[in-house]
Amino acid sequence: MGPPGAGKGTQAKILAEKYSLIHLSTGDILRAEIRKKTDRGLEAQSYMDAGNLVPDKVLLSMMESTLTELQNSGIILDGFPRTIPQAEGLNNIFLKLNSKINHVLNIHVEESKLIKRLIERAQNSGRKDDTEEVIIKRQKVYTKLTAPLIDFYKNEITQIDGDGTIEQVTQRILEYIQ
Ligand code: AMP
Repeated sequence: MGPPGAGKGTQAKILAEKYSLIHLSTGDILRAEIRKKTDRGLEAQSYMDAGNLVPDKVLLSMMESTLTELQNSGIILDGFPRTIPQAEGLNNIFLKLNSKINHVLNIHVEESKLIKRLIERAQNSGRKDDTEEVIIKRQKVYTKLTAPLIDFYKNEITQIDGDGTIEQVTQRILEYIQ
């Protein structure tokens, strides 16, 4: 977990490779659906372009089928859950699948630094939601809808300082999970 620009995707990729986990980024899955022009992609696109969250029911049905397919694999979830109803839905999915969450990591970075990072990324990301206006909107959405998950997972969460180089942040995560 972490706000947009905290480095979730970057760190998730590194950890997935190191521990042979499947990296599931809901943002990447949705962007692939948009490219393929699936019904779900078409439904998600306007929310994503505006910096809003795609409705919970869309995410929950997408993740229920994906997690059911991958049920015996180790997975690193990146960008999901992002709301309390998604976290509750994920608990129900895992109950059905007899799976569980092993670790919850929250990468935190000061908001002014996040906005600076995202504006830099915007120059070559090609993402439609990387304009300054949408970047600020995504931070607001994070604070309102996603930050409450820190309390939801308070018994299992580890806070990771996301300020620093990619390698420094990876090292902080590894110190905790090794
Ligand atoms: P990301 O690549 O994680 O920054 O996600 C990009 C966009 O995809 C977000 O701004 C949302 O519009 C959408 N999205 C990704 N994951 C979720 C989620 N769990 N719930 C709702 N919308 C999501």
